[in-house]
Amino acid sequence: MVDLESLFKLSYGMYIISSRKTDKFNGCIVNTAFQFTPEPPMLAVSVYRKCLTHEYITDSKVFTISILAQDTPMPFIGTFGFKSGRDINKFDEVNYKLGQTGVPIILDNTAAFIEAEVMQHIDVETHTLFIAKIIACEILDADSEPMTYAYYRDIKRGKTPKSAATYIKVEPKQKVTKGAKIMAKYKCLVCGYIYDQAAGDPENDIDPGTAFEDLPDDWVCPECGADKSEFEKVEED
Ligand code: FE
Repeated sequence: MVDLESLFKLSYGMYIISSRKTDKFNGCIVNTAFQFTPEPPMLAVSVYRKCLTHEYITDSKVFTISILAQDTPMPFIGTFGFKSGRDINKFDEVNYKLGQTGVPIILDNTAAFIEAEVMQHIDVETHTLFIAKIIACEILDADSEPMTYAYYRDIKRGKTPKSAATYIKVEPKQKVTKGAKIMAKYKCLVCGYIYDQAAGDPENDIDPGTAFEDLPDDWVCPECGADKSEFEKVEED
């Protein structure tokens, strides 16, 4: 038997991996970064090949990892996990400093950072495993707990983009039945998800026909986990 849900029992963290290409910066969320030798300290990280950060790491051979704090707000995760550096400059929205290699080190919501230089890479289907030597690492906030991937999924009710190294497709429990009545739609400003009142959000126990105002206060965007305040009504033509 292959029950893919058992893979959710593996433990991971939540990180932003940042890199540069000449003077341009980009970063994205990864959950698969791990140290694998003590001396010299080396780590590996798996990055989706179509992601802009992948292109930057391939070009500059250097990157930083921000170990996200447990209380990192969802819109911050949304910016790095669900938006593309091809559309926005993600670094316009955060505080950072430059590391020894000229790669930005994010200072917001970061418990500790690691700066690393790529020694080799392994192409694995959709992803590349970058093997890197640690050249600097420092704790930025000694009091903050790092966010685990389980905490992100279970407590923050965060979602996983299809490009993530550990994405697993789990079929929805119910089929969406579209209501006949045309009703308002609301757009998530973090990831672009549209809440269609006619369709509801049956996967999260929201019946078709539920008005946006009637969604429970703890309802979050099923794609990126942003809360209701991040939504805006879509004006019909
Ligand atoms: Fe969203």
